[in-house]
Amino acid sequence: MSMNGEILIERVTKKYGPVTAVDNLDLKIEGGSYCCMIGPSGCGKSTLLRMIAGHETLTAGSIKINGNDVTNVRTGQRGTAMMFQSYALFPHLTLTDNVAFPLKIDKVSTAERRERGHEMLDRVQLLHLADRLPSELSGGQQQRVALARALITNPQVLLLDEPLSALDEFLRLRMRVELKRLQNDLGITFVHVTHTQPEAIALADQVVVMDHGIVEQTGSSREIYDEPHSPYIARFMGGQNIISGSVDSEENGQAMAVDFSGNRFVVSSKRDVKAGEELNFAIRRDRIRIGSADGDHQSALTGIVTNLEYQGTFVKVALDVEGHEEFIIYLPDDVFFENPLETGHTVSAHWPNEMNFHLLGKNDSTGNPMEDSH
Ligand code: ADP
Repeated sequence: MSMNGEILIERVTKKYGPVTAVDNLDLKIEGGSYCCMIGPSGCGKSTLLRMIAGHETLTAGSIKINGNDVTNVRTGQRGTAMMFQSYALFPHLTLTDNVAFPLKIDKVSTAERRERGHEMLDRVQLLHLADRLPSELSGGQQQRVALARALITNPQVLLLDEPLSALDEFLRLRMRVELKRLQNDLGITFVHVTHTQPEAIALADQVVVMDHGIVEQTGSSREIYDEPHSPYIARFMGGQNIISGSVDSEENGQAMAVDFSGNRFVVSSKRDVKAGEELNFAIRRDRIRIGSADGDHQSALTGIVTNLEYQGTFVKVALDVEGHEEFIIYLPDDVFFENPLETGHTVSAHWPNEMNFHLLGKNDSTGNPMEDSH
């Protein structure tokens, strides 16, 4: 049995009156891992986090930490600590006293509190400011104090609710590195709620994508980004085009798909598909090239360039393709400038067949406001 903060969430439901915030959810978070929960606002991330922390009761189900059922165990007795977005530091206490405050509740002696407070401040590189008041710190420093305070009780699980959202871009990226380093050093489980995809991808060993109180998909950053299960995940994580078509023929796990304009694509499928069935597949925006396809091993389609956006390392090319939603290509800048395109041009786009990734579920084209955030 892992003793470093494995979390097992079994059939957990949380209802607020008529609202089901978390819906019969199962999830295992490996001990000693960095887990990021992501999903649109209102999908139940914070509610789930608060239930793990013991700040919220469950309507049904159970939560185990290191194999112990903590469903009805008090906050502070279940090996978890929580860091909030608003740091909630005591303005009249020095950093040392702020950090050591949880130990005071536990009736630890003054000398030991001071020693352990300093130890923790050292961990977050603030020992030299130990006697200052919170008001004498920058926002980033205040946050590190809050982190030290959360960690002083030696939790096996640290829960972080949008910990970086109050910081400016520069500090956010620095703090991100710091959080990852700290998690690595301590070897405990971090569960971090965010609504920023790049943050989740950069930090997490395990990404959990939620929607409407359920887990849509969980896996490593690379799996979630590269092998989205559903159109929802592909849209939410971004970086993909979704093509809809129907199966023309199927052979040895390879389906021949035809879209509404008659373009044909090979789609490799891990599950059975049959002729006539409608399917969706995803193709990464950065795997597509412009120009005639070489040979018959390429999937291709034709469209009109509607927009070009220089992004530094790549150029974002938007195509209008008959019968499809906007088709986006990320061309490396050197590739683009070798043969610059212009809006209004009709071009052919192609990519290797094996890049077509079959998506489960329906093409829910309600769209997501965050799909284009990176
Ligand atoms: P997220 O963190 O993903 O934005 P939340 O967990 O905060 O989502 O909320 C999930 C759902 O539960 C939302 O519909 C929200 O309005 C509702 N909810 C959350 N907390 C409460 C509460 N204390 N009372 C009533 N409804 C709540």
